[in-house]
Amino acid sequence: MPSPYDWLDDALTTIHRAGWYRSVKTIAGQPGAVVCLNGQTVNNFGSNDYLGLAGDARLMQAAIAATQTYGTGSTGSRLITGHRELHQELEQAIAQLKQTEAAIVFSSGYLANLGTVSALVGKRDLVLSDQYNHASLKHGASLSGATILEYRHCDMQELEQKLASQRSQFRHCLILTDSVFSMDGDLCPLPTLLNLANQFDCMLLVDEAHGTGVLGKTGAGCVEQFGCTGQELIQVGTLSKALGSLGGYVAGSATLIDFLRNRAPTWIYTTGLSPADTAAALAAIQIVHAEPERRDRLWHNRRYLETSLTQHLADLPPSFTLLPSESPILCLQVDRPTTALALSQTLLERGSFVPAVRPPTVPTSRLRITLMATHTTEQIQQLSDDLHQAVKNLPLLD
Ligand SMILES: *Cc1c(COP(=O)(O)O)cnc(C)c1O
Repeated sequence: MPSPYDWLDDALTTIHRAGWYRSVKTIAGQPGAVVCLNGQTVNNFGSNDYLGLAGDARLMQAAIAATQTYGTGSTGSRLITGHRELHQELEQAIAQLKQTEAAIVFSSGYLANLGTVSALVGKRDLVLSDQYNHASLKHGASLSGATILEYRHCDMQELEQKLASQRSQFRHCLILTDSVFSMDGDLCPLPTLLNLANQFDCMLLVDEAHGTGVLGKTGAGCVEQFGCTGQELIQVGTLSKALGSLGGYVAGSATLIDFLRNRAPTWIYTTGLSPADTAAALAAIQIVHAEPERRDRLWHNRRYLETSLTQHLADLPPSFTLLPSESPILCLQVDRPTTALALSQTLLERGSFVPAVRPPTVPTSRLRITLMATHTTEQIQQLSDDLHQAVKNLPLLD
């Protein structure tokens, strides 16, 4: 008997054939610079837990205490029964970190982008989006019904040309960009983006998912690093990377936040953040303020690896390049998907987990290394040596 679900098997077969099949790996125990992955103890170079806070005892304690006080679930939409004092404290802490009038927390960074973009623009409006933007920004733009134009990655001339020729045909215009590009590690040209937004009467949304807690003197992100604090723009981010918890946020003017509370469907029609996640994120922000040495250590580790890799990889063919990066994300671009997989596998056998990122997630295959504040120099040196050896042993280079 044929079934209406038969096509799913065919679709999976096609995914397998393209080499695009994905599956999960089990991590046992607590997160950290060393984890137990599929039963093997490995140095972890694939995590977004930049400051090592997801396994920090203070975050865990805060989550436990909040659960004991408020229970496990927030039981409803923030607008009905899901709002707690803790949410307000967290929103104030985010606004303080970002030096904005207000902030609002969502249940994830994905939902923050989806809800914010689709609330801010509609059919009569224009979205201009960097081609390397995170999927959540792209999905938000599609959901909004606005006209979407992509510009080449960080190409400000193309953005300006598109604005000059198109802007006047639309009511509102929203420019979307990651601050740190998650699969490359480079930064958006924020001052130029702000100038263009002002010049062409556009809103600008910057996704600080990989910037918050990592960039800037106080860890406020790329906006702080570029000296753009206090300028009117929309800052989105996540509580799930350097802040070690779960959830997303938007920071900006009091009017913007009030508007989102009334119009963002992914905030209105979903359950409020759990007390445990809220309290853990709040504890993380306090640590971001109190322990700048974590950020220093992270940047030290990142410089150490870059120096070591640059020396090791100097004599490689041009298809192997370290992509430009100004963040703790370092990517080694390789010639093809199978090379990325083979290198990742060899590194794993030698005790380092480094994910291979391939099309369709990115245009070119690469190893994507993320550093943490809690990596030791020995762990980083070992990764660099093993990677050097693994590349030298690739058959195609003989
Ligand atoms: C991870 C990420 C998100 C999504 O955040 P979650 O809290 O994991 O949903 C959004 N934007 C960017 C750039 C990201 O890297």
